[in-house]
Amino acid sequence: MKRQVSILGAGVIGLSCGVRLAEAGYDVTIYAKDFSPETTSDVSAAIWAPYAVQPVELAQQWGLDTYKVFLSLMDQPEETGVSLLPLREYVIGEVNPPGWALALESFRLLPKDAYPEGYDGGFEVHVPLAEMGLYMPYLMKRFVEAGGRCVERTFTRLDDFIQGDAIHVHCAGLGAGALADDPDVFPIRGQIMRVKGTLPFGIDDDTSEDAPLYIFPRPQTGDIILGGCAQYHDDSLEVDEEMARHIWRGCLRLCPSLEGFEEAQHVVGLRPGRTAIRFERDNTYTQPVYHLYGHGGSGMTLSWGSADALLRMIVGIADC
Ligand SMILES: Cc1cc2nc3c(=O)[nH]c(=O)nc-3n(C[C@H](O)[C@H](O)[C@H](O)COP(=O)(O)OP(=O)(O)OC[C@H]3O[C@@H](n4cnc5c(N)ncnc54)[C@H](O)[C@@H]3O)c2cc1C
Repeated sequence: MKRQVSILGAGVIGLSCGVRLAEAGYDVTIYAKDFSPETTSDVSAAIWAPYAVQPVELAQQWGLDTYKVFLSLMDQPEETGVSLLPLREYVIGEVNPPGWALALESFRLLPKDAYPEGYDGGFEVHVPLAEMGLYMPYLMKRFVEAGGRCVERTFTRLDDFIQGDAIHVHCAGLGAGALADDPDVFPIRGQIMRVKGTLPFGIDDDTSEDAPLYIFPRPQTGDIILGGCAQYHDDSLEVDEEMARHIWRGCLRLCPSLEGFEEAQHVVGLRPGRTAIRFERDNTYTQPVYHLYGHGGSGMTLSWGSADALLRMIVGIADC
């Protein structure tokens, strides 16, 4: 008989774990109050780039593991929504690229004519982009095809979820704070705008005081995501008009050709921040319970690395 697994959470983390475990032969059910397109993961700009997540070493390792899996999903972008985006980061002052960028084969410093006036340099990397309107349904399809099931349910306490002798996996994102009574979980508010149009590459400016400004064109959806904003401990889901103007002005500075593009939509989401990702077996329960949450601004970036690490941990302990 197949070993049963119950997962709490249907965001990109819960779903990726669901796919990995179901395809590895487990009998998996996902429980959640929200499914796509209603999760935070659906709001994600979903570019591969470790950001606002701790610890840095784990993020880099899981990020690079995830990168490799995304490369294998690019053959059918119209189905998976995954493609490879050339991303240019413009820099004021000394160019000091992060470790994850230097680890990519595609890394190159930008020549002088490739960054705009007002900047001192920059670099380019090719990174996966997942258009969540396609990618989340793709994950769900794979999960169901592997025999996975979904149940819509809201829990007020983790103990209400941990029933029976299944393996339990807790991937409730921001909801984990209340469910597991975890004071280390906090919201990091994000706001983005979408405009209609295309561009040949993405742009990122990490020198802005508040949060990186970014421009990510999405080839399948035919729009461009403009950001960004990272407001720690702010849980408002209202669109902030002043923030929208800040993003628009900043992105226009990065890419003047955006002028005249048709504005489509403003969206707000709350990243599941935590002092550090929680990934461990919880020995306070008699049955196997695993926590996997707190991915901050990097849920898509670390998704497959997280799911593979969970599978390895479970296989090391459970028989299936
Ligand atoms: C504006 C914005 C831009 C972003 N851009 C990027 C990016 O470019 N790249 C990147 O990697 N990441 C990005 N992120 C971050 C990314 O979206 C998150 O890290 C990711 O969505 C976290 O996934 P998750 O599965 O942990 O949580 P979620 O997607 O929030 O899923 C949580 C699940 O748990 C369920 N749940 C919670 N509480 C309960 C409960 N009490 N009972 C039942 N079910 C419950 C929810 O219903 C949901 O199904 C961005 C986020 C925002 C807001």
